[in-house]
Amino acid sequence: MAEQRQDEERAHLWAELVATARRTVTEGLVVGTSGNVSARVGDLVLVTPSGVPYDRLGPDDLTGVDLSGRQVLGTLAPTSELPMHLAVYRTTDARAIVHTHAVHATAVSTLVPELPLVHYMAAALGGPVRVAPYATYGTDELAEHMLRALADRSGCLLRNHGTITYGTTLAEAYDRTAQLEWMCRLWLTASSVPGLSPSLLTQEQLAEAGERLKGYGQRA
Ligand code: 13P
Ligand code: ZN
Repeated sequence: MAEQRQDEERAHLWAELVATARRTVTEGLVVGTSGNVSARVGDLVLVTPSGVPYDRLGPDDLTGVDLSGRQVLGTLAPTSELPMHLAVYRTTDARAIVHTHAVHATAVSTLVPELPLVHYMAAALGGPVRVAPYATYGTDELAEHMLRALADRSGCLLRNHGTITYGTTLAEAYDRTAQLEWMCRLWLTASSVPGLSPSLLTQEQLAEAGERLKGYGQRA
């Protein structure tokens, strides 16, 4: 009985994970099989398989690894970015992770070491968003660079590569990616006006917005 409930929980989370991965394509955050998505339940991490178009994924393709990266569910090879995903789960309270190659965010990653504070929504990611130095995709080196850039943040940019964000749900992780991509587009737009440069927020202004965001939206 308990086992059946566990299977149902996994199947439900897998469906949500596949829907999230499909959204990264339909909303233009990745092209083809780029990017990857994962979600954690207990010590199990469900991940998108490597190089499989998201619209082809069904209930039988459920792919899962343990926190050491050993495959415990499914037969499709897990995402090549397991080192990044597992590094986040081992060191934070993350329950879901979204990695994309969103175009404005990736453009910004080639220009600056940190996204300038053009908008208070940086507070929703824990502060100014850093850019992790470049390393080859799928390597432990990239995961190490990413972890340093993620300190006290729920998202960062990966130089000449893309974005990674995490949250307590797939919806939260996805939303943080979308907000990050939007902020990058905002900065690129504002800083592309010849002869003018965008005004930036101070750390104090960001901290104030961060406090206020804690009470944002509807009361439970
Ligand atoms: P996977 O298809 O192996 O997940 O790789 C995509 C990617 O974005 C690598 O950085
Ligand atoms: Zn990638």
